[in-house]
Amino acid sequence: MKNIIFLAPPAAGKGTLSEMLQEKYGYGHISTGDLLREEVKKGTDLGKEAEGLMKAGKYVPDELILKLIKNRIVKPDCDNGYILDGFPRTIVQAEKYDELLKELNKDLGVVIYIEIDKEMAIKRACSRITCPKCGRIFNKYSNEMKPKKEGICDDCGEKLIQRADDSEETFNKRFDEYIEKTMPLYDYYNEKGVLRKIKAYESKYDTFDEAVKVIEE
Ligand code: ADP
Repeated sequence: MKNIIFLAPPAAGKGTLSEMLQEKYGYGHISTGDLLREEVKKGTDLGKEAEGLMKAGKYVPDELILKLIKNRIVKPDCDNGYILDGFPRTIVQAEKYDELLKELNKDLGVVIYIEIDKEMAIKRACSRITCPKCGRIFNKYSNEMKPKKEGICDDCGEKLIQRADDSEETFNKRFDEYIEKTMPLYDYYNEKGVLRKIKAYESKYDTFDEAVKVIEE
């Protein structure tokens, strides 16, 4: 199975698409945002360093992210293909990741760029609610993505929360950070010939269908 890297602004739907593709194909799912939130919850040194930055909508230093990725990518659920959701986010991360792939003798796979306009992304971030236990993503105002019971996770019955960085103010900072530091990856991967573009539709199923086409092409 082709490995997948999602390249997209915050709240474009990387997490939701990852969950759907994981279910269809059995991919390992690596979300650096989820990994960091776990470290914050556990109160590790890394978590303590990341927490303030994340709340401010800033990126966490490259070395810390690379440490997380190196440990995660070698787990058995990644043996037959994995999805990178939220990594690489900077040119340095992308270069170091290329070196890591060489070391591990793994393929880069395909980079899926999700196109979404800022207004739609803000709307999604501000109405996103997540399960602090299993990480599943819901949306208060979307018919197809709201939980069956208001405020409760369908899968584990946990109370859903709004992420600390999903306010409009922090979202704007995250978006700026994305334009400045992550957007250059578009050219980086395009030049390698591995970039494919899909659109973020209102319905997650339409976006999913496009992603499936790219993976199976
Ligand atoms: P979203 O799903 O909205 O794109 P994430 O959950 O992926 O957000 O990431 C949340 C935050 O975690 C980011 O705003 C950033 O502070 C930090 N983060 C996640 N991945 C990375 C990364 N690869 N490099 C630097 N910071 C990261």
